[in-house]
Amino acid sequence: AMVKGIQSQHVAATVKHFACNNKETNRKNSDSRISERALREIYLKGFEICVKQAQPWVLMTSYNLVNGQRASEHKELLDGILRGEWGYQGVITTDWWTKGEHYKEIKAGNDIKMGTGYPERVLLALEKGLLSREELQACARRVLELILKRLRPIAQKQHVELVLESFRPVTAEVDEVKLTLAISNLVENGIKYNSQNGWVHVSLNADHQFFYVKVEDNGMGIPEESLDRIFERFYRVDKSHSKEIGGTGLGLAITRSVVLMHRGAIKAFSTEGEGTIFNVRIPLNYII
Ligand code: ATP
Ligand code: MG
Repeated sequence: AMVKGIQSQHVAATVKHFACNNKETNRKNSDSRISERALREIYLKGFEICVKQAQPWVLMTSYNLVNGQRASEHKELLDGILRGEWGYQGVITTDWWTKGEHYKEIKAGNDIKMGTGYPERVLLALEKGLLSREELQACARRVLELILKRLRPIAQKQHVELVLESFRPVTAEVDEVKLTLAISNLVENGIKYNSQNGWVHVSLNADHQFFYVKVEDNGMGIPEESLDRIFERFYRVDKSHSKEIGGTGLGLAITRSVVLMHRGAIKAFSTEGEGTIFNVRIPLNYII
């Protein structure tokens, strides 16, 4: 009920800590030894009910071990039971200070890694063949869907229609947290610099080398002489109504640097009074 209530307000609920984190003493090293029956009937039951009834958007794994294996590295728990048997659709994240091995956490099905651990060992694991490229790839559509879910209330408030078009399944090696930030700003701009009853269309496409995200709006547009400058830090178009609309002018500078970090490209096209298009192109594999 709590997850349903929170998410009805378009805020992601994070359910934690999955699983068997039933005591706090020595919680990073304690190992919960449990029979399968006790695990399913007692310790996983609450999570099962929650996932099946409320579909939380995010779930966080725990520090402790379950039958000798770290919960965050536990493929059977995450990929097997949670996603496979219960049909969980949301994002799985690690907790902040796990001592888990990053590449094993990726293999087990984590989507987001909190900022501690040994990220450099991921490349090493890739080189050694312990981790495959497929396992590194994130589902681009799932990332975009989560962004739009979060921005939907702002769009509704302004009566701007928000649509996602996805032409084919796309998986790519991306820094999910940074890319979310980048695309979020483009979509938020499309909503902000728009008028009542306007629209923002987000589309996803790919070929064998790149994936493409297009964010298009029918808002106020950007004057031609400003188009070259919008990616500069703190630059905001003066003539537009952006003075009244809150913002720091940093969004597009951040968006551009994230796209470049992924060895991608971003281009803007705009006609004043008609609307704006931002095209983003990112290679499917940017880790070499
Ligand atoms: P922040 O994103 O840091 O909160 P911001 O939205 O003003 O602030 P940017 O995202 O960098 O900053 O955008 C820079 C400027 O470009 C904006 O102030 C606005 O004038 C113009 N702009 C950006 N996107 C659009 C758009 N879709 N339509 C019209 N103008 C836009
Ligand atoms: Mg912005």
